[in-house]
Amino acid sequence: MSLVITGASLLGERTADLYVDDAGMLVDAPVPGAETIDADGLVALPGLVDLHTHLREPGREDAETIRSGSQAAALGGYTAVLAMANTSPVTDTAEAATRVWELGREAGLVHVQPVGAVTRGLGGEELAELALMHRSRAAVRVFSDDGRCVHDARVMRRALEYVKAFGGVVSQHAQDPALAGPTACCHEGELSGRLGLPGWPGIAEEVIVARDVMLARHTGSRVHVAHVSTAGSVEVLRWAKAQAARDGGWSVTAEVTPHHLLLTTDLLAGYDPTFKVNPPLRPQEDVDALREALADGTIDAVATDHAPHARHDKEHAFVDAAFGMLGLETALGVVRTAMPGLSWSDVARVMSIAPARIAGLGDQGRSLAPGSPAHVVLVDPDADVTVDRDASASLSRNNPWHGRRLSSRVVHTVYAGRVTVRDGSLV
Ligand SMILES: [Zn+2]
Repeated sequence: MSLVITGASLLGERTADLYVDDAGMLVDAPVPGAETIDADGLVALPGLVDLHTHLREPGREDAETIRSGSQAAALGGYTAVLAMANTSPVTDTAEAATRVWELGREAGLVHVQPVGAVTRGLGGEELAELALMHRSRAAVRVFSDDGRCVHDARVMRRALEYVKAFGGVVSQHAQDPALAGPTACCHEGELSGRLGLPGWPGIAEEVIVARDVMLARHTGSRVHVAHVSTAGSVEVLRWAKAQAARDGGWSVTAEVTPHHLLLTTDLLAGYDPTFKVNPPLRPQEDVDALREALADGTIDAVATDHAPHARHDKEHAFVDAAFGMLGLETALGVVRTAMPGLSWSDVARVMSIAPARIAGLGDQGRSLAPGSPAHVVLVDPDADVTVDRDASASLSRNNPWHGRRLSSRVVHTVYAGRVTVRDGSLV
């Protein structure tokens, strides 16, 4: 299993060789008999960490499995993914969380870290077994009812108090159900009016972000805002982060998806359900605010919200189609395309270091210095990739990037010293 990776530019800066021993650790000298990877001209980053993945197992193995999702993740340069709890059954018990964790280990391509549900059955009323999930072998630290908002402020307050005891965090899908309405399927604005589609307004997200940062402050706990999509949410986050830095003792973090950094609501003019996603694609002003917030650290991380759907759930009239898009294999390319000015060390910060810190994954998002586990992605910074949805490892095909050219290419991925992707293909 030992490796020598020669000539890579570490985080796009100095060029150095990396040595991996038989235990999958980075060490300071080559191990005799090690396999060599020529990384001349490639950029080495710590393996990417995704805070927000839907792997669909258990329950919808026709759309994705933990194995197929792990393959897609490795191809995208990931070495860890957080698997959301909205499976069937829901990940709301220690047994369910442990099962997801075990299936991830069996697949062995990335660290699959289960996210626990905040409420039993995602019902929004009764807290799930948060402490038991945390004490299980899966050691759950991130809790989310993602797909739904924890809309009851009393329940959210109690969840924040509860996770505080063990350093957990609540990841909120911020969407006030009353303001969003039951039938909304796109951004509320001039275009939704013209297309005759029920829209949901940015304010439905912003009021929950504002409420939750106040609850985090009140409880002295940690809240994480999933898939921020509006300029108004960014304003609230900027204010809240300044308050938290001043106060100490509580924190707010946030993520943005690749698609909200590059795609806008105009794409809905063709009624193509590939672009139907929750939260919805927004106007360019929001996209601009999200890019600025990611660059300046107001938004901490990029998270894919990889949401595979079987054809029979996605290929419908726009209003009836399922929400969501694939994202794991294309995330790095989309970020590079959307924000070509972002340095490689900033890419490492938002796609590996910060998400690992938020998720409490101490083995991930580490520097490439000796003594760290060898989770490494090697990227060709000068290549382009034209996305082909049929070349995906995902079992689903709801890929909004099909036919698009994206900047840079994931060449090799190394997970715990094991090469999972070589020359762009699964090993
Ligand atoms: Zn969500």
